[in-house]
Amino acid sequence: MKILVPVKRVVDYNVKIRVKPDGSGVELANVKMSMNPFDEIAIEEALRLKEAGKATEVIAVSIGPVKTDETIRTALAMGADRGIWVKTDEAGIEPLTVAKILRKIVEAEGPGLVILGKQAIDDDANQTGQMLSALLGWPQATFASKVVVGEGKIDVTREIDGGLQTLELALPAVLTTDLRLNEPRYASLPNIMKAKKKPIEEKSAADLGIDLSPRLEVLSTLEPAGRTAGKKVGSVAELVGDLKQAGVI
Ligand code: AMP
Repeated sequence: MKILVPVKRVVDYNVKIRVKPDGSGVELANVKMSMNPFDEIAIEEALRLKEAGKATEVIAVSIGPVKTDETIRTALAMGADRGIWVKTDEAGIEPLTVAKILRKIVEAEGPGLVILGKQAIDDDANQTGQMLSALLGWPQATFASKVVVGEGKIDVTREIDGGLQTLELALPAVLTTDLRLNEPRYASLPNIMKAKKKPIEEKSAADLGIDLSPRLEVLSTLEPAGRTAGKKVGSVAELVGDLKQAGVI
């Protein structure tokens, strides 16, 4: 069974985001970019399934502009076998468009499982896996925290409000990863070197017959409101007085 893992290049989670002066989005120039953390978890899970003899090949796919291949290389350095890069002029392709592109790749590659992150930390859309499963007509299990592959089926434990839910899905299926599914490995130096030789196939959206025109318009992007300065109080009585004045108690 092949496993396809879509990996998105996003602003690194340690970077303090800056909004562009015209409010059209966030600044991407000269900003450290990394693989979306939930996608690292997806790659890790696919690799573990391959190591357990449940999968034969792990394919990392990414849709994005120049340098997106760096993110695919990271997946290859972790252990993925090959990559597919759907090259675009711009970043920020909408989830529905990404899902349509992924459907075409799934149709061409025939994986038994597609493992996506539950959400990309840039837009927090949490849509692509769900849309892909609908477009393919495949079962889906989102927010997976445990995965057990059986004969023609997969048991997925999901984190839900106040507990865990376990679903059995017929393969092929779509999964999205939650934070506690696993702890992704670091790529070792020899594997980083080996990854340089692994193939990355380049495609365009036009090759796949997909129109990249956006359907959504960003009206504004705003920084969160700054916090007002705190104050040190001299006694409990002063604290209670201040809280009463602020209408908190
Ligand atoms: P989202 O629906 O945008 O929150 O993204 C959910 C998941 O879809 C991500 O964790 C990735 O696995 C996948 N994904 C979204 N956008 C892309 C992209 N441009 N290239 C590859 N995978 C993507």
